Amino acid sequence: MNNNHTNPDTLVEVQQNQVLHLYEKTGLSFWGNIVIASILTGMLFFHNPSQSLNLFIWFGIICSLSIYRLIISQNFQKEHTLNEEKVDYWANKYINISTIINIVWGGIGYLFFPDELLYQGLLLLSLISILLASVPLLAISRAIYYLQMVVVLLPITAYLAWLGGIEHYVMIVALFISAISLFAAANYIYDLIFTLQKTQANLLRQANTDQLTKIPNRRHYDQAFKTEWRRCSREDLPISMLSIDVDYFKKYNDKLGHAEGDVCLTKIASRLSHISRRPGDVAARYGGEEFAVLLPNTSLENAMMLAERLRVSVERLEIPHPDSKYKVVTVSIGVSTCNPMQKNKPDSDTVYPAMLMNSADNAMYLAKRQGRNRIATQGCGEQRIANILHEESLKDAKRAKQAEPA
Ligand code: GH3
Ligand code: MG
Ligand code: MG
Repeated sequence: MNNNHTNPDTLVEVQQNQVLHLYEKTGLSFWGNIVIASILTGMLFFHNPSQSLNLFIWFGIICSLSIYRLIISQNFQKEHTLNEEKVDYWANKYINISTIINIVWGGIGYLFFPDELLYQGLLLLSLISILLASVPLLAISRAIYYLQMVVVLLPITAYLAWLGGIEHYVMIVALFISAISLFAAANYIYDLIFTLQKTQANLLRQANTDQLTKIPNRRHYDQAFKTEWRRCSREDLPISMLSIDVDYFKKYNDKLGHAEGDVCLTKIASRLSHISRRPGDVAARYGGEEFAVLLPNTSLENAMMLAERLRVSVERLEIPHPDSKYKVVTVSIGVSTCNPMQKNKPDSDTVYPAMLMNSADNAMYLAKRQGRNRIATQGCGEQRIANILHEESLKDAKRAKQAEPA
């Protein structure tokens, strides 16, 4: 979990996968616990029926806790968004319940230690099996797994030492050998998981980054858009977007070459990252010579201010553009703001994100038509409403024409 060179968003994504993986294995752990506990309880009961009540109470506790862990996992499946806090919350919940289950397992060696060698061997084997069944915890932390080894093996080891006698010392040695092997295997598995996590984090970072400009790409932007839209919708906050397009960029490439064009795009990208600095802001290369900036919890006035600052800052780069009327490279920026909270529209999540993107794009084309190197705005869904009104008026005209006497 401690990949130092990975950006926080990517880390959260990796941690989400770990917790998801852990909870996916709950069914397997459930059956593992129930089967081993049933066999052991049956054998110990067969060996000494006089302790049946306590034994069945112990068995009941193991079953109840395993069912509880299964219920927790079902509640986890209902969780829609897993942010950093929630990842920690669910990971801790799993660790706590699993540790309690293993403490109860550890108690059996002390509470129901049989006096026959064969049953003693079976008991020791069951405890080792339970530790094997806890291996998925390694996905979260190595220390947590060692804790499970201690809570399961310490009570019985102490009890065997207290009983004394050569056969019990031999058992302690057997447990010690098993513990060493488990320890080595746990280390090996953890290193393997850690390497895979690092690789996964690096791949995710690459998948989210534009290779030319090193700023987030469209994939990252679209994901952030969905998350931030939901957040602003929940918290009743405005969300703004800038749609940015480089002016006369084809001419720039034609005149100065594609390589110069790439350098120019990289310079513009650095201005973008400079402008959008708040934690939720995302400045991305959306494709070709188009960029987008997402500004959650930002009013139209503030988004326009940022857009203007960005336009000026690109102009001030003073990248010569012989074929532009402005003589330097410039951008046109479309600005739009939506308020996703629509109490009477349960389907607002699906309709409104597209409206914000369309409005920002339309505003950008408006800025182009008005002469480029400027900003323009369009209200959220304004074009859609205008289109609907236009279609309705066409339909009305058609109906009126049909109603006219021939
Ligand atoms: P407008 O002012 O209307 O936006 O005109 P334009 O020439 O910028 O628009 P158009 O969409 O016709 O041209 C976009 C150009 O951007 C075409 C392509 O050569 C260039 N382009 C797209 N992606 C890249 C890239 O990754 N590197 C370089 N150097 N150029 C690119
Ligand atoms: Mg374009
Ligand atoms: Mg362009």
